[in-house]
Parts: sequence; structure tokens; C-alpha cells
Amino acid sequence: MNSPAIAPSSIRWFPADANAVESRCPVCRELRRNAPVLAVGSLADGSTLTMYQCSACDSKFFDPPDIRDFSEIIGRGDHFPKSYVEVVCGIWETFWPAGCASRKAHATLLDIGCGFGFSVDAWRRLRGEAIGVEMADYGRAGAKALGVPIYSDYLENIPELESRRFDVVYASEVIEHVPDPRAFATLLARHVAGDGVLCLTTPNASFIRERNVSSTLLAALSPGFHGFLIGPVAMEDILRACGFAHVSVREFGERLVGWASHRPLDVDPQSPAVRAQYLDYLESVLASRAENDSITDGIAYRHFRDTVLAGQFDAARRSLQRLETSLGEKYRADVLHPVRARELVQSLASVDEFSAACPWFLPNFYFLRGMYAKLVERDEEGARQCFRTSREVTTFLSRSWGDMLVLEALSFLPEAWQQEAVSAAGQGDSSVCVEWMASIANGGPDIVAAFGGSRPSDHQIERAFVEGLSLLGSLNRREALREALHDCLSYLDNTYGDWLRAAPTVREKLPGAALQLEQQMLLHLKIAAACTQVGARTELVRPLLERAALLAQLQDPQSPMTRSVAAEARARLAAPSPGFNPWGTANQGMKISYSFQTGSKPPTRP
Ligand SMILES: [Zn+2]
Repeated sequence: MNSPAIAPSSIRWFPADANAVESRCPVCRELRRNAPVLAVGSLADGSTLTMYQCSACDSKFFDPPDIRDFSEIIGRGDHFPKSYVEVVCGIWETFWPAGCASRKAHATLLDIGCGFGFSVDAWRRLRGEAIGVEMADYGRAGAKALGVPIYSDYLENIPELESRRFDVVYASEVIEHVPDPRAFATLLARHVAGDGVLCLTTPNASFIRERNVSSTLLAALSPGFHGFLIGPVAMEDILRACGFAHVSVREFGERLVGWASHRPLDVDPQSPAVRAQYLDYLESVLASRAENDSITDGIAYRHFRDTVLAGQFDAARRSLQRLETSLGEKYRADVLHPVRARELVQSLASVDEFSAACPWFLPNFYFLRGMYAKLVERDEEGARQCFRTSREVTTFLSRSWGDMLVLEALSFLPEAWQQEAVSAAGQGDSSVCVEWMASIANGGPDIVAAFGGSRPSDHQIERAFVEGLSLLGSLNRREALREALHDCLSYLDNTYGDWLRAAPTVREKLPGAALQLEQQMLLHLKIAAACTQVGARTELVRPLLERAALLAQLQDPQSPMTRSVAAEARARLAAPSPGFNPWGTANQGMKISYSFQTGSKPPTRP
């Protein structure tokens, strides 16, 4: 890896009243006094870059931008093309914004900055003609490997395309790399058919907030490679300035997507048809590829990932078999054995050694393999070993060579650790849960190191407390429970101020809580139960139970879980006898179905 290891925790955030300085916004071109937002090391050479927020359009930009060639961010070693096709390229993430832009069964696509060309390939197999444009080397490699048409030049230099119009003109994560975003959008707009759609995606300037610190945020910033990040208002202005009467700009976490047309838009990002098309594409590639190369591995891995996460286990079984056969042909057998795989990885000394010895999705695969072992094979010990391998390999890779090549694995890490703790607890072993709770601690600085350099989201931390308090309570680890409870209360105090101590008459949700209503109720119940069990902070028990019961009234109609938690809270308020089972019937800690969130790139995959 050429790039210096810049951790998300090393970002320095300016206070809200920091001194503004006069500068010109590269997005809207206004000369204004703009306040600094953050300072961060360049991923290219480590030099400090300062980001400002445009007071006119809310875009954010580095001044000076100090832009490097994008290939520097990912290094020039042989490992990049391999990691890209195996896992780094988000095929779903690049496909869906274009896929849902048009409802025509047969439609044409022009994909500018198409990368390796997976979306071009998918479109041609599913929807109709598709043409890609890509200047970088992997465009040429993809055109050859996938057999799709990709021009290797700037759009304005391609005479064959000069008079062509397309149903969908698409540029995913390109506009943040161009010198003049307005001119770029105007150029693309000329190729949109009369009833066609222009679709642009880009990192979302509104996501850049201290609360969202994570490897995802660092990737969106890409200091040294992104000169500016466009905000929703600026994106709308850019698309309207192209002459489109109908514009829809939507935020999806760290990602901003804009659709624009001369006709009324009919865009459904949650479209089941687009999700089905995506899985059809992966299956179509697997069926047509005889050779078991990195492309096949990458497609089989994504199919396994997305079918496991969707609970489509029959389909997952097929891609798992293909994947294990393919990996068995090209790597040492250790790669497919969870315990030996983690020993193997920890013996490797460089990125290139890892790339030669393992597929880049190894830690991600082991998280999903663990879910499959748990839910399908009902093999709790096998699952536990898989989760541990996922966690240890992710942490090892992130600490050794930075986050950029293991972003997806990092997004699985909090869940992998939680699942490992649940599996171990199912075998009567509380040690993983104790270690996991200690890593969460009070949400303080240590949490970043424990999670491979990336802070879990508040949602993940709060879910962890819900599950962890449950597990320690059910295993009757009173001392560990007392410590986890202390940490949980510190975290809530730090995060939500005095809310917990206030009289429980408020009918609003916990202010700013990342949790869903049901999870909030469960957290209250678990804290109350833990307080009862260890005899600490007992003054909190009644308000927490009252709050849990009160929160239930916010949901209409109430889900079965909400009814169950509220009933338990009321029962405890009525009869807090010493022999009362603090875990009752609402213990969700051991549930086998769970709602998984990657914490990024919504909408979730099929
Ligand atoms: Zn601006």
C-alpha cells in the first residue's frame, strides 16, 4: 500500500464558530466567507488538508484541493485489480441507481466512468444496449474480460457517440473527480433521450459530520483524491441548470443520488424488480462462466453474501458450492478452514502476499459463512469459529494495511463480534461477550482500536448493549454484568445527556437515538433488569420501566415485540418482587433471525 495509514479518528473537527475565510466554492463558483469543517491527512502523502463548507450551496471542499492521481490511493500493486473484481467494486451499489431510473423493459444505457463494466454487462444481459466509457486501465481490462463495449477516451472525443441519445445516462461516483461539475453534467445531459433520465451519484457532503466518523466517512472524504463533495442543494441546482424540469435528489447515508428528466420521474429505489434483476445478473454470469478465476469468485461471493443476507438459503447453497470449489482449486486448503485460515493470514507479511494466498473477501466471507453455519447447518461451534476468523482477519488487515481495501469487512465487524458472542454464550461460554462488552466500553476512544480503526455507529453500539446485557444476564455473570451496565450508563449519559434522569413523562423518542423504537424499549428494559440483578443504580429501574411502557404508545399499530416488551415493563412495575425473573419473556438475545444493516449504501441489497 502506497498511501499512508490515515485513521478516521485522526480527523480534527473544527468548532461550529471557527473563523471563516474567503474562498471560491468549486461547485457553485460563489466567492464567500466559508467556515472550516475539518482537517485531515491526505491519503496520498499524509500532508494536512483543510475542508470548508460553502455558505452558499452547503457543498464541502478542500482548499487547496491537492488532488492526486486516483491510482495512488489504491496502490499500483497487482493486488488492486484482484481486490476490485473480488469484492471492492459494489456491483449492486453501482447497478441500482441506473436500474431504477427507467421502468422501460427495454432501454439503452450510457455509463460514464463505468469502471470494470459490471453495470454495462448487467444491463446488456437484462435490459438492452449498454455502452461504457472509462479512462482508467480497469475499463480496458473489463471490456476484454466481460466482452462489453467500453470506450477508453473522454466522452466529447468519441465521434461514434456524438449524436447518440440514451434512455439512461449514468455517472456513478465520477462528478466529484471532474474540474467543473456543471460543465460535466451539461455534457452528459446532451446524450439523454427526450423521455430519458440522467442519473448522477456522488459522496454526500451532508454526511460529513463528526457523528458519522467511520471508515465510510473517510472513504467519502478521500482527502487528496476528492477536491469537493456536493451537497443535496447543489446537486439539485446542477441538474436544473441542465434544463431538466423534473429533478429528484435523495440522500442515502454517505451517498447522494440525483435523477433528472424532461418528463415526470418514476423512480423507486426499493423496486423489487431491480433487486431481482441484480440477482438474475449474478446467476447469469455464474452460469455462463466456465473458468474459475477471480471474476467468478467475486460474482459467487456477492451472490452468496446477498442471498444469505436475504435469507434465500437454497440459492446461497449453490453459490457456496461454486465458491468452495473455485477457492479449493487456487488456494491452500487452509483458506477454507476457519481456524487455519486465520493462522495463515497472520503469517503473511505484505499486501501482495495476502493477495496471492487468499481472496480479498476472506474476512467478509467468513462472517457470512458463519451466518450460514448458524442458520442453515445449525452448527453453533462452526459458526463461532467463522465469526472469530472474520473479526480477527478484518482487524489484522485493517491494522496492517489500512481500511481502504477492507471497507466492507469493517462494516461486518460489529455484527461478527456480536454473533460470535451470542454463539459462545449459546455454548455457556461468556468470555467472548465479556471481551466484546469491554471493547464497546463507554463509546470512548478505545472503541476505535478495538474495531480495527473504525468506530461502530451509535446504532451498532446500542444494539450491542441490548444484546450484551441480555447475554451476561442470562449467563448470570453478575460482575461482568455490573461492568457492562456501568459502561452502558456512561455511554447513554455521554450521548443523551440528562434525558435518562429526567422525569419519564416525555412522549418523544429518546432524543437523537440511533435505535429503532423497539430497540429503545428493549434497551430500557435490559438496563432496568440489569440494575435489578446487580443491585446497582436501582433509582433508575422505575423510570426506565415507565419509559419502556410509555414508548410503546408511540407505535401504531403496535408490533408483537412492542406489545411484549410493554407488557413485561408493566408487569415489573406492578410486581418487582425479589424472585422476579429479570429476563422474562422479552429476551431477544438468542433470536436467530435478525435485521442486518451494513450501515452504508442503502437501499439494502435484495
Ligand atoms: Zn458552493
